[in-house]
Amino acid sequence: MAQAMKIVCVGGGPAGLYFALLMKKQNPAHDITVYERNRADDTFGWGVVFSDRTLENFADADPESKAEIIASFAHWEDIDVYFKDRMIRSGGHGFSGIRRQRLLEILQNRAAELGVALAFETEVDTLERFADADLIVACDGLNSKIRSDHAHAFRPQIDVRTNKFVWLGTRQRLDAFTFVFKQTEWGWFQAHAYRFDEDTSTFIIETRQDTWEKAGIDKMSQQDGVAFCERLFADHLGGNPLMSNARHLRGNAIWINFPRVSNETWIKDNVVLMGDAAHTAHFSIGSGTKLAMEDAISLARHFAHEPDAPMREVLLAYEAERKLEGIKIQSAARNSTEWFENVGRYANFEPEQFAYSLLTRSQRVSHGNLPLRDRG
Ligand SMILES: Cc1cc2nc3c(=O)[nH]c(=O)nc-3n(C[C@H](O)[C@H](O)[C@H](O)COP(=O)(O)OP(=O)(O)OC[C@H]3O[C@@H](n4cnc5c(N)ncnc54)[C@H](O)[C@@H]3O)c2cc1C
Repeated sequence: MAQAMKIVCVGGGPAGLYFALLMKKQNPAHDITVYERNRADDTFGWGVVFSDRTLENFADADPESKAEIIASFAHWEDIDVYFKDRMIRSGGHGFSGIRRQRLLEILQNRAAELGVALAFETEVDTLERFADADLIVACDGLNSKIRSDHAHAFRPQIDVRTNKFVWLGTRQRLDAFTFVFKQTEWGWFQAHAYRFDEDTSTFIIETRQDTWEKAGIDKMSQQDGVAFCERLFADHLGGNPLMSNARHLRGNAIWINFPRVSNETWIKDNVVLMGDAAHTAHFSIGSGTKLAMEDAISLARHFAHEPDAPMREVLLAYEAERKLEGIKIQSAARNSTEWFENVGRYANFEPEQFAYSLLTRSQRVSHGNLPLRDRG
């Protein structure tokens, strides 16, 4: 594939933008367009997190955007667990947070600077208009239309999980990754919260569907549901409100059940899945953006390393590499998801035991690894 290609990326999220810029950097003669239904500065979502290790991959792929991403980071080492009126702090976890919108802005600017065409406010309904493209990357997110239009080929499996969660923000400045567990008359509610810039934190609230219904949130307006959460987590908000930036979603549609997505195959002719369209990993292990951007690195690298290979071979090599990584992360994410779906099981634990169980839930942090991170 040494020759210049016409490449279409459907979806201007982290996967599409990063892949486009990496390919354009590799060969400025490629004709690359990213189609995105939203405006460039639409702000759905709050912050995303990366582990220190993820950043090393970004450095090799594109040091320029990595430097900008790092300059926008909020960094923290500690995880605070609030359970039964106690706070247990565990150190040495090394994570960084960035505003999702800032990350997109960095990638948009870098892609434009390299000569990628960015078509905002452009909905892609059908791939027919791209009949002359050499490669179409379906990086159209969790609810990928391309994946469902071609479900017979990709054969997606979508496992919709039982908990309800909502992605909110707050001006409360948290200085550690914070988990708060609240027992109510209806059941457990938990918050996963972290600061991602000078003065804003992501505040995700999660609960079992039956608890959510018993508490009556299913019948509340969006505003009342958010106010309910504000009251519940008031002692962690320092008087700051909880904010929703998904007001385009009606009523309770801001509360969703996480869909675990996987696909039998990621390739249909010259169309290939990438990012959340290909796989999702539960937000509790904070790996969705990392996986999406690492997919982009992998496919771009396969094109660079096998310049004369037929397209299908390159796509198959990418699929094999990234499917394996996806399975590993999804397996850790499955343990983590199920832990949060069954918090009640651990309710009789002492706070130290509870925090230990939480920190080792995905089995990526082991008994031996915890004291290496934090001797105390
Ligand atoms: C509550 C929550 C918390 C999260 N926290 C984290 C975290 O801490 N760390 C982390 O790494 N990840 C996190 N994620 C996951 C992360 O948001 C995604 O995994 C990541 O954005 C995937 O990138 P993507 O480019 O594949 O898809 P997306 O970011 O979803 O981008 C897809 C894009 O395609 C566009 N699009 C879709 N269909 C069309 C169409 N037909 N025409 C044109 N455009 C279209 C969409 O508008 C969107 O911009 C979280 C997700 C949720 C829900």
